[in-house]
Amino acid sequence: MATAKMAKAKRSTKPSVKKYSNYIGGEWVKSSSGQYFDNVNPADTTDIVGRFPDSTEEDVNRAVEAAKEAAVRWRRTPAPRRAELLFTLGEILRGKKDQFSTEMTREMGKVLKETGGDVQEAIDCTYYTAGEGRRLHGFTTPAEMPNKFAMCVRQPVGLCGLITPFNFPMAIPSWKLIPALVCGNTVVLKSGEDVPLSSLNLVKACEEAGIPKGVVNLVNGAREAGAALVANDDVRLISFTGSTTTGKKIAEACARDNKIVSLEMGGKNAIIVMDDADIDNAVEGSLWGAFGTSGQRCTASSRLVVHKKVYKKFCDKLVERAKTLRVGNGLDPKTEVGPVINERQMEKILTYIEIGKNQDKATLACGGNRLTKGSYANGWFIEPTVFTNVKPKMRIAQEEIFGPVTCVIPFSTLDEAINIVNGVAYGLSSAIYTQDVNRAFYAMQELYTGICYVNSATIGAEVHLPFGGTKGTGNGHREAGTQVLDIFSEWKALYVDYSGKLQKAQIDDVEI
Ligand code: NAD
Repeated sequence: MATAKMAKAKRSTKPSVKKYSNYIGGEWVKSSSGQYFDNVNPADTTDIVGRFPDSTEEDVNRAVEAAKEAAVRWRRTPAPRRAELLFTLGEILRGKKDQFSTEMTREMGKVLKETGGDVQEAIDCTYYTAGEGRRLHGFTTPAEMPNKFAMCVRQPVGLCGLITPFNFPMAIPSWKLIPALVCGNTVVLKSGEDVPLSSLNLVKACEEAGIPKGVVNLVNGAREAGAALVANDDVRLISFTGSTTTGKKIAEACARDNKIVSLEMGGKNAIIVMDDADIDNAVEGSLWGAFGTSGQRCTASSRLVVHKKVYKKFCDKLVERAKTLRVGNGLDPKTEVGPVINERQMEKILTYIEIGKNQDKATLACGGNRLTKGSYANGWFIEPTVFTNVKPKMRIAQEEIFGPVTCVIPFSTLDEAINIVNGVAYGLSSAIYTQDVNRAFYAMQELYTGICYVNSATIGAEVHLPFGGTKGTGNGHREAGTQVLDIFSEWKALYVDYSGKLQKAQIDDVEI
């Protein structure tokens, strides 16, 4: 099975654990495999959140059939009516925010405030995108012949396969599902195998909101289920968020079948701290950016690029504060940094810490260890870790670690800092702390990322602005904002000739 969390959990045989189902054609159904995998609490692996169907190609194909059957009716439902159901969905999510956040912390580990933010992002996305039901703007434009009308409208792309990662268990599925629906598509969602409950909660809320049977379908499972969705000929579009390695494989498979594919992938984001910056503010932003969600954000501030004049002062304060961060179970309100998602991910992070120490020979300024004693004994906890004296080309400064690890890189000039930030394979998010408006605008112009912040960390995207990255992070699409509509709809150009005779564009002369 695909993840260490699943592999380990599969051995559990506790009879009292709740079994969940797939949602296909408006029915809650078992997998044809009859198999389940366990969803484990990463803060306490003896706590099994639930058992979820380990879906097969057959399950995926059934879900696609259901989505196909529902497609025509949903496409013909006027967009404002589709959107009304989405507003109802928003209300349901709002009413269940506390329940969904607590369940998310239990399956994913991040602290309650952050899972509250995750559910809130789904609510924001739902309200904002539902508003598009009364816009979905096309445009009119003059035709080149007399008595002829020209206009463009959006049409749905068809059947959409949505594949999502573990780190934003409700926000990311909602970013895909809601715009796909408002545009008139039917969908099959393949949930992240480490966090199936949050996708299921979202889909159950869609059922409760009255979204017709077959419009939204959910299959649980891992890589095999995802690959079956990508391979299905009736799926017209794959919207994927996850690692760059997986995304590239999916892009290759989609290219062979001429499917539309939108990819949101890895990041190696950086904050620049200038010598004129408010250092305390920059330190607090860096801590939040680096260690929020235990560093498991695609926008995590995994590189801190700091001016030599303030380097020592910044590092001293950062390390002092990092040491005070309280690591623990995210359900405890005092916890600031939760566990990492699974054993495989924990081992990957610890391997990178070894690389930083032994191969890169950076200075381990704090952290660096797995926590195993007392309340940490049954979880996957890693100390907040800071490397200093890091050079831009070191592996820890180039590769996505996706854990509570950040590295501090010194620089002398703003151009040098910008080159460091841009000198990685990814291009999701960047930030600069400075009091100088000229430097801020110059950096905004030169940083080649999809998102850029001034005087805050690399995280904190809002749903009405486009989200996505350059280079290895994406393939040119943007989620959120109105830009997401360009993923889930295609343009149709319409010409109406009301002259009553044959008019040949580009051939007939038009008298002036
Ligand atoms: P992952 O690539 O391991 O898995 C993502 C999803 O893809 C899962 O649902 C998984 O089952 C599925 N999958 C795996 N192999 C597949 C295959 N061959 N065919 C079809 N589906 C397959 O990613 P993850 O570990 O869950 O998430 C972490 C990664 O996601 C990080 O790299 C992070 O940067 C990235 N991420 C990016 C963004 C963004 O917007 N750019 C947002 C969040 C996370």
